[in-house]
Amino acid sequence: MKFGTKTIHAGQTADPTTGAIMTPIYQTSTYIQKSPGDHKGFEYSRTGNPTRNTLEKNIAALENGKHGLCFGSGLAAVDAIIKLLSPGDEVISTNDLYGGTYRIFTKVFENFGIKFHFVGMENISNLDSYINSKTKMIWAETPTNPMLNIIDIKALSIISKKNKLTLVVDNTFATPFLQRPLDLGADIVMHSLTKYMGGHSDVVMGAAICKDDAIAEKLFFIQNSCGAVPGPMDSFLVLRGIKTLHIRMQRHCENGKEIATFLNNHPKVDKVYWPGLKTHPNYSVAKNQMDNFGGMISFNLIGNNLNDAITVVSNTHYFTLAESLGGVESLCGHPASMTHAAIPKIEREKTGVVDSLIRLSVGIEDINDLVNDLEQALSKI
Ligand SMILES: *Cc1c(COP(=O)(O)O)cnc(C)c1O
Repeated sequence: MKFGTKTIHAGQTADPTTGAIMTPIYQTSTYIQKSPGDHKGFEYSRTGNPTRNTLEKNIAALENGKHGLCFGSGLAAVDAIIKLLSPGDEVISTNDLYGGTYRIFTKVFENFGIKFHFVGMENISNLDSYINSKTKMIWAETPTNPMLNIIDIKALSIISKKNKLTLVVDNTFATPFLQRPLDLGADIVMHSLTKYMGGHSDVVMGAAICKDDAIAEKLFFIQNSCGAVPGPMDSFLVLRGIKTLHIRMQRHCENGKEIATFLNNHPKVDKVYWPGLKTHPNYSVAKNQMDNFGGMISFNLIGNNLNDAITVVSNTHYFTLAESLGGVESLCGHPASMTHAAIPKIEREKTGVVDSLIRLSVGIEDINDLVNDLEQALSKI
């Protein structure tokens, strides 16, 4: 089955009881047992629910994995994956990391005795000095947020296998349409399904996908024991969203390319960060491991003035100023005052999050409307 067929069919068959083509929303917590233990495969909806299980099979297929597990949010998936570790273990993580992931690592799991090292992984040899006998996991996000750095997953998997580590890749920004980390040697793929996978900004959900039976068994044990599972209605919405993932992503990529080119030629724009630009420092890695370059773009303004950036993001009509990304509608954000406000200016500027940096999640609207919207907003400065 090819990708664009999997999005619609993988894991899904007509409902055995009614013949319904669309997976029903099994809004039930419990299931009949004829005699103790004699049931149809379902006992209690924390452990298993047919709507959720269908979604789990579908995302496992999209990532070329064997096992998929869904959680109540992307961060609940992060939580479950880190619970594979024990006190004293160490994790090496990318330094340009989703803020919530950084927060759960440093503010929650460090209290439980797990140590995290944050390392720039664009240069893979940076990892060497952090690997010791306590190192158990590498955590990578690529493309990174908001700087759109690209990390070489295959190179990471070589280091990971050599040192018997578990390689986790947060594939939220790329989605399996653009990049399949398990094929490149990753052990676990993590998703915030809230973003491109759901695609309509109407659900919060997360997932973990793997090939290995032993890892899956442990993750399932944690999912069932800790209980951060999504409900059947939300599972249905994400299943429905995924049916158009390949079509949406195609348009996100086309619009992303147009917007990146427009910004790159604009006299008021300084640098444009989009992995599809030949001037992007990791362009060749991106071209190797991704099928296209997506709709996430960051840029900063000539003069690097904070108020100019605020003027631009306050004057767009179709690019709505909001947190989050990956929906059909375009969004814009100002990392220095929004997602990265808690990081001291000196620290955030080291990774490129300067005062005038603007992040776009380019939606699938008509491209002319989107370009005109940015043009008129930039004309206000
Ligand atoms: C949003 C996001 C998360 C967290 O997911 P939630 O669904 O918001 O809990 C993790 N990683 C990345 C890259 C994200 O964009």
